[in-house]
Amino acid sequence: MTNRDGGGPSADLLEADLIVIGAGMGGMTAAARCAAAGSKVVVIEKAPAIGGSAVLSGGGLWTAGDVETMRRINPMGDPGLGELVVSTWAEVADWIASTGVEIEEKRELDAGSAPGGFPAVIRKFDVIGYIGRCRTIVESAGGVVATGATVLRLSTRQGAVVGAVVRDRDGVAELRAPHTVLATGGFQGDRELRREFLGSFTADVLVRSNPYSTGDGLRLGRSVGAALTPNLDGWYGHTVPYPLAGGLEPKDYIRFAQFGLSPHSLLLNRAGQRFVDESAGYYRNAQAVCRQPDQRALLVFDETVRAADTNRRGAVEQVDRPREAELAGAHVVREATWREVEARVAAWGYRGVDAAVKQFNAAVIAGNDRLGPARAGNRRVLVRPPFYAMEVQPAITFTHGGLRVDRWARVLGTDGEPITGLLAAGVDAAGTYHVAYAGGLAMSGALGLAAAGSALADPTAAAAVALSHC
Ligand SMILES: Cc1cc2nc3c(=O)[nH]c(=O)nc-3n(C[C@H](O)[C@H](O)[C@H](O)COP(=O)(O)OP(=O)(O)OC[C@H]3O[C@@H](n4cnc5c(N)ncnc54)[C@H](O)[C@@H]3O)c2cc1C
Repeated sequence: MTNRDGGGPSADLLEADLIVIGAGMGGMTAAARCAAAGSKVVVIEKAPAIGGSAVLSGGGLWTAGDVETMRRINPMGDPGLGELVVSTWAEVADWIASTGVEIEEKRELDAGSAPGGFPAVIRKFDVIGYIGRCRTIVESAGGVVATGATVLRLSTRQGAVVGAVVRDRDGVAELRAPHTVLATGGFQGDRELRREFLGSFTADVLVRSNPYSTGDGLRLGRSVGAALTPNLDGWYGHTVPYPLAGGLEPKDYIRFAQFGLSPHSLLLNRAGQRFVDESAGYYRNAQAVCRQPDQRALLVFDETVRAADTNRRGAVEQVDRPREAELAGAHVVREATWREVEARVAAWGYRGVDAAVKQFNAAVIAGNDRLGPARAGNRRVLVRPPFYAMEVQPAITFTHGGLRVDRWARVLGTDGEPITGLLAAGVDAAGTYHVAYAGGLAMSGALGLAAAGSALADPTAAAAVALSHC
């Protein structure tokens, strides 16, 4: 294989120390870390360009401020992996800095300003520059990054994974290495896998990620006997405006996502009833909207909420979200009274807005919990005009379930033992989260470093054999 994009196989480079399948945050971190230690790494990327969802991201390397917080907010996640993400966060940041890209100093965020509504740590970094630096590190060590390539199957010998059969524009070749890392970014892009594992109501949900993460890592792992995580139905996403005639494009992924807006608003169904504690997290709101009969709801907020969201500092693009949604042709109204809002949204099939807001405001003023569902946080009356309503729908960013791994990123078989030679990184190394979420880049970086550590610690896990063309 050559280092040119779309380059094909050439006989002398098909034996490597490490094969990485997927060139996003998890895969490139594992690849570059091994290459920096002298390993020859072959990275196989399905898309025409490297970077995956990482290069579409906000570049916020963030996670829970401490292990206790991670446990508290993420009780359904794998405790060992959750601890790994928190305890490795600083090492991931140092590793990113060591590649020479720009990275902010550490900031400690309180619950009010953190992305998830709980205390967190964050360092924003130049993620596009980082992925590029990783590529340079791999190539400088004699490795290859091949784009537009397809992995046909994993090669096994006596139960160990010893490489992969890959097709690119020059044909089919067999790569051999003692370790192979699956890092294809999850299965959110595959309608059938979503239907099977996340529920039929997710079949037609919008996808807010790179379009190539369609479950290939999951399929490849299962083909060699990998076990799946106990919880497979978790996913991370956002509410975004409805309708979006032009679809949801990468340029819209951050400006349309309602990180700061939805936890401070009310979410109402068509009968004007709340159905979720909106303050529990924007990603929980997306999951709850997805369970509504037609996967839609009304997001209701006042000028104070809009202004706070527009002026919010952090990993999130600062824009006037209702205005952006309106420009995209989505259902948005802005009126002087809640009654007028109610009259306008009747055209979209919603009623009961005025009564729902009155009930919420009364409960906040009285300081009582007589709201169903309860509202634990962000209890502030919605009284400052203009008043807004926006119809919203869910969009999925990545899946939480998939291949079972241990904290050394080794893929486990159905007997609970590691499959020799098979590692996973990023979203493919599943189970860190289930319902909750505390950072995707940090998780992918931590598992990328863990995979690299395992590969470097045992360079002969699956004995490499001479390369052969198919
Ligand atoms: C708009 C957006 C904003 C985000 N912002 C943040 C943020 O600020 N902070 C944060 O923590 N997280 C953020 N995230 C999440 C973060 O980007 C992901 O969690 C992270 O990139 C996951 O890393 P990964 O390596 O698992 O997947 P990816 O980075 O998506 O990489 C997977 C790669 O695998 C490739 N691939 C798929 N199938 C194959 C195959 N068969 N063979 C070869 N290659 C394959 C894909 O093309 C892709 O390049 C954001 C995500 C999005 C979409």
